[in-house]
Amino acid sequence: MPKPPPPSRRAEAIWFDGDFVAWDEANIHVLSHVIHYGSSVFEGIRCYRTPDGPKVFRLRDHVDRLFFSARVARMDVPHTPEELTEVCLDVVARNGFEECYIRPVIFRGVGSMGLFPKDCPLHVVIAAWEWGAYLGAEGLENGIDAMVSTWRKTPPGSIPTMIKMGGAYTLSTLAKMEAARLGFSEALLLDTEGRVAEGTGENLFVVIDGKILTPPLGYSILGGITRLSVMELARDRGMTVVEQPLTREFLHLADELFLTGTAAEVTPIRSVDGIPIGAGKIGPVTKKLQSDFFDIVTGQVPDRHGWLTLAATPEAPHP
Ligand code: PMP
Repeated sequence: MPKPPPPSRRAEAIWFDGDFVAWDEANIHVLSHVIHYGSSVFEGIRCYRTPDGPKVFRLRDHVDRLFFSARVARMDVPHTPEELTEVCLDVVARNGFEECYIRPVIFRGVGSMGLFPKDCPLHVVIAAWEWGAYLGAEGLENGIDAMVSTWRKTPPGSIPTMIKMGGAYTLSTLAKMEAARLGFSEALLLDTEGRVAEGTGENLFVVIDGKILTPPLGYSILGGITRLSVMELARDRGMTVVEQPLTREFLHLADELFLTGTAAEVTPIRSVDGIPIGAGKIGPVTKKLQSDFFDIVTGQVPDRHGWLTLAATPEAPHP
């Protein structure tokens, strides 16, 4: 489980319904609808340290996905995507972060009790904190040990997997706790048909004979923004990327396996259920894509896809 950020590394200023408030004051009532029924939608966005200052990765794509999640959840966000895009940049700048993880969350507050969220106002919060490698620096370098969870992804027509809805993440939490209890770093979830869907907070890629395979949208996965980016980076290198449903055996046919996500970035998997993947360490394809990814996000090479947005520091305010 990710640890809460240590006090010195959290955002002292959190944006809460239009105003910046102190960390300790960013609180809600215990009878908020969200606490009882998980009625929130959220995003996770990374800001990277670059030679030109802190830059946010694919900010507008994340904000657009937040609004997509809100639309499906029937939440009328009282702000525009443009406003929330600016606020994300502001949160980074105000807190003087050089790199951080940004967490916008939209949730239902206090109204009449019961499932129907009658008179429950919508709240919008954008917080941030410094967050190192989610699955560990060691994991990024050498690969993590994963297991196939006993928990299955929700099927189509049930809690949607293509949106980031708070309540839906109870499933990921159960799978993550199971993995931690059994000594694994991450869990992979199958869908109800037994196809491999994704990790608890990451998309999955399989490399077989130099070809890169990943489950398609519509197969109980989130449309990950890192997933799309890595697919583009692979194609930039002339690699073949195929979106296709994968059964569990593919995990062991694989020469390499890796996970992608805002938190997990590009993390190799070195074993599944105790069975080594390939040579049991990061493979050559994963290594190339991981360094292509980090080279771009940390500004070591030009941002040829236009993925980064500068968050001005307090000394050099945003125009
Ligand atoms: N799947 C799930 C279930 C997730 O929570 C995430 C994290 N947002 C991902 C995949 C990866 O998506 P992204 O690359 O957009 O962070």
